[in-house]
Amino acid sequence: MILVLLGPPGSGKGTQATRLSSQRSWPHLSTGDMLRTAISRGTKLGLEAKSLMDQGLLVSDSVVVGLITERSLGEDCKQGFILDGFPRTIEQAQALDTVLAKNGKAVDLGVLFDMPEADLIKRLSGRRTCLKCGSMYHVDGPRPEVDGVCDRCGAEVVQRDDDRIEVVQKRLEVYHQKTEPLIQFYRNQKKLTVLNAACSPVEVESALAKIVERGC
Ligand code: AMP
Repeated sequence: MILVLLGPPGSGKGTQATRLSSQRSWPHLSTGDMLRTAISRGTKLGLEAKSLMDQGLLVSDSVVVGLITERSLGEDCKQGFILDGFPRTIEQAQALDTVLAKNGKAVDLGVLFDMPEADLIKRLSGRRTCLKCGSMYHVDGPRPEVDGVCDRCGAEVVQRDDDRIEVVQKRLEVYHQKTEPLIQFYRNQKKLTVLNAACSPVEVESALAKIVERGC
């Protein structure tokens, strides 16, 4: 199954993609993670992407389409994959359809993670992330046992540059402007299901599993 997780930043797509990926052995393809890896490696792509990401702006369509095209051709993607944070524009969604069609494939399902804006702002601006393993914490809990130190790997836990409140607001503005039109795009293709993402992670996980099981 080729699954697109749609929704605003902070709605829990990454967490649920990780869980579903381990249950189904469909790789989790996150353009945000790919870009952060490029930044930590100091590649040219990473350097170019960082300033845009720090401002809450989108990286160019051609860059992310290139990343996903290459990754989705991997042997491990043959049985399907989970897209998280991609596509984010109509142009990316159209490019994805074209790339998949060349291999006789198509997106099977788009799931919209729906959540009130006030909750998103609280979640994102209070989020703290491990610099090394990406484990997530929150100022309202769960917090690391030792302040600023990751429970899992011992590395430093910090606020991501793009989780600063002013950047969060920009990311949400960009989401409304550029990404929200994808809701209608997948609705027109009769592939969209809306999921209430304002529940606990366990409840969202179970709702998502049912949607995937039904295939709609
Ligand atoms: P995320 O971790 O998915 O919230 O992505 C973090 C940042 O990476 C975004 O705010 C964008 O700057 C960039 N990014 C991730 N995915 C995309 C995409 N599909 N198109 C453009 N920019 C992206």
